Formats: sequence, C-alpha cells, structure tokens
Amino acid sequence: MALTGLQIFKLLPKTNCKKCGKPTCLAFAMALAQKKANLDECPDASEETRASLAEASAPPIKAVQFGTGDGQVKVGQETVLFRHEEKFYNQTVVSVTVSDTLSGDALKARIEAINALQFDRVGTHIQVNSITIINESGSADSFAAAAEAVKAASSLAMILVSDSADALAAAVAKVADAKPLIAKATADNAEAVARIAKDNGCAVVAEAESIESLAELTEKIKAAGVEDIVLSLNETLKNRLYGLTQIKTLALKKSFRALGYPTISCVLEGKAEDQAVKAISLICKHSSIVVVETAEQYAMLPMLTAIMNIFTDPQKPVQVEPKLYAIGEVTDQSPVLFTTNFSLTYYTVESDAEGSRVPCYILVVDTEGTSVLTAYSGDKLNEKVVAAAITKCDVENIVKHRKLIIPGYVAVMSGKVEEETGWEVIVGPRESSMLPKFLQEIA
Ligand code: SF4
Repeated sequence: MALTGLQIFKLLPKTNCKKCGKPTCLAFAMALAQKKANLDECPDASEETRASLAEASAPPIKAVQFGTGDGQVKVGQETVLFRHEEKFYNQTVVSVTVSDTLSGDALKARIEAINALQFDRVGTHIQVNSITIINESGSADSFAAAAEAVKAASSLAMILVSDSADALAAAVAKVADAKPLIAKATADNAEAVARIAKDNGCAVVAEAESIESLAELTEKIKAAGVEDIVLSLNETLKNRLYGLTQIKTLALKKSFRALGYPTISCVLEGKAEDQAVKAISLICKHSSIVVVETAEQYAMLPMLTAIMNIFTDPQKPVQVEPKLYAIGEVTDQSPVLFTTNFSLTYYTVESDAEGSRVPCYILVVDTEGTSVLTAYSGDKLNEKVVAAAITKCDVENIVKHRKLIIPGYVAVMSGKVEEETGWEVIVGPRESSMLPKFLQEIA
C-alpha cells in the first residue's frame, strides 16, 4: 500500500530547509504522496528514510526495459491516465512477429523486412522497435535457432514467446546477453519461467484471463525474485480494451501495486489493414507493447503515426532546428524567406517552396516552436530575433543580395526589420499555399 502524505512526513527530516523547492517538509510529503515529487529532491533524507519510502516514491507503473544498446526499449513509468494531465513518458513499442517455422533465406528476408520498417514523418524518424519470435514449431531447437538468427541480423529488442518453459530456456540460453523479454508466465508455469527470467536478468510477461488472476500471478512472480513484469490479458479485443483501462486506472488511481506494470497485447490474425485498426485501438487504450504479425509498410505507418501523435508532449510544441535550410540547387542569388520553427509551419512552407521549383533559402527563426502569428503576438518573433537569426546562420556570407521575404501575416514588422537588419523587406503571401506563384513571379 502507498503511504499517505502524513505517514511520509513523519519520515522526513522536518527541518523545513526548502532545499527541495517546497516551502515545508509537509508540502514535500504531500507532493511525494501524489507522485508530483521525487524523493531525490530532498538531499537530507536518510538512507533509512529512502528505504522506507522506496515504495511510496516509486512510479505507480513500473518502468520495464528490454533489449540492449541502441535497440533497448523502455515501457511503463506512466503517471497519468490522460496525456493532457501531464504527459506520457514511454511510447508504445510495436513488435513484429517472426515464426520459428522459418529458416534460411525466408527467415533472413523476414528479419530484413522488419528492420526496414522505418519512416521519416514531419522531420521525425519513426520505426518498429522490436521483433517477437514465436515458437510455432513446438521445437525448442528451432525456437533457439530462430532467436539466434534474429540476434545476428537485427539490433531490435527481442520478445520470445512460447508456452514451453523448456523452449524458452533453450532460446534464452542463446540470446541472454540481448536481454529479451520472456513470454509468457502463466499460473501453470510461473515458477519455471520466473526462474529463467531471474537467472538471466530478463523481464517476463505474466499472462492470465482476468485482472484478478493477473494480480495474483504478478505477486507470485515477484515472490520468485523477478521485479520487471509486463502484463498480458488474454481476452477478446473488446474486453481487453476495457481490461487495459481498468488495469491502468487501478494502478494510477488506487496505487494497486500488483497491477502497476506495463502491458502487452497481440494482434496476430487478419488482413494487414485490420491488424492496423486493432493495433491502433490498443495503442490508444493503454497497451505499452503491441505485437502484430503484419510487416506491411502501409499498415505500419498509421500505427507509428498514431504513437507519434499520442505520445507528443502537449506542453512542448513539435519543433524543427532553427537554421538556414536550402531548398533545391541554391546559389548566392537565391531568395531568402523566413518562418518560425513550429514543425507544422516549417513543413508547410518547405513543401510549398519545393512546389515552386524555385531554389530558395528558408531561414528558420527560433520562436520556441510557435507559429508565426502566435510568436508575433507573444513577442517571440520581432525584428531583433530575425536579425539575430541572420547573423547566427551567417546568411550575409551565404547570399550576395540583401532581400528578405517575410510572411504576409507579419507585414507590420517590415519597417522595424529593415531598420534592424539593413535588409530590404519583401512582404510574402499570407498563406503558404500562395508561395509557388509568389516565388515564380519574383524569380
Ligand atoms: Fe524538508 Fe527535505 Fe524539503 Fe528540506 S529538502 S524542506 S528537509 S523535505
């Protein structure tokens, strides 16, 4: 059970020294109880206190990692049910299956196809992060061989799925240093699977058909010495969506530790597009890992796009790097236009500038990721900011002319920009969609 604010207060130094940023120890204790503070922020808390408060200060949903190096992934650690309450921390991991009935070139081709599931969207790289090896053959040797082949050909984090503890032991023995996620421990094999996970320092999936059974199972696995657990509710899609919401609610709102773990769901049947629809439902409704069978790019892109949108920090606008971008085969006579570093604004302008087929430069000004009008009204976009960007990006040495195209919406800045920069200002169109015509006319 989590401690109350008053119980936590009794364990703190009670000096009200304010080093934690709170006015009193009681205020800090209350914040800690509500998961709005971290015990590390009190430098004077004794080791004894730290041990006593470990549970109270732990995130309500445990962070679990699997894989190694660049391929390592982290799931869980969420503190809120809805993104607007704060933010979500660790993105849903999409994992694509490989059957151990494949071997040789077919296995190699499948792994390569999964490795290639990578896209660039609105300036951000998105990709599949995991491969799930399924023991369809029923053979421990084939399972171990497939796991070994995946490890050799991919750096993606692995999930090993088998109903047989012996097959899991055989596969883990081959790839233990890749720290795979081991699936799955059930009521029948929990001790054996937990032992494999513990001996190899791996996380384990606990699977049951009801929330109550899952809670009992996690207690059993924890008692066997495994802390890193991922929950799997073996249910229909509809019931699973309800179940995942209930699990997350119980963990976050009731601090129910036995369910305070990330979750995994599988969508292994149906057409690629149907798998995408189901997977996106699970991504929206709290599944920390979604395993799909399809490796079709057209089905994967919407899944990754959904993740990208859901896990964007609502308090942090999506930004591009403020710098000078060259569009096309530019010369020192190419036009220079500026815009802000709000991603949506930049990529709209970039796309329209490219559409004009007139090589040009886009000077992206740092407005903390806000759009042109928002930045102007908040004084994040003014003549000084534009002048500083020109200097910082060395635009005066890159082009020989001194003409700057400014967005039509901030035509009012013209005079001040001319005074501050010494550049002639040309007022561009209000709407970016008019840029192609505008650029062609002035070229
Ligand atoms: Fe109390 Fe620790 Fe905060 Fe100081 S830093 S006010 S001792 S909780």
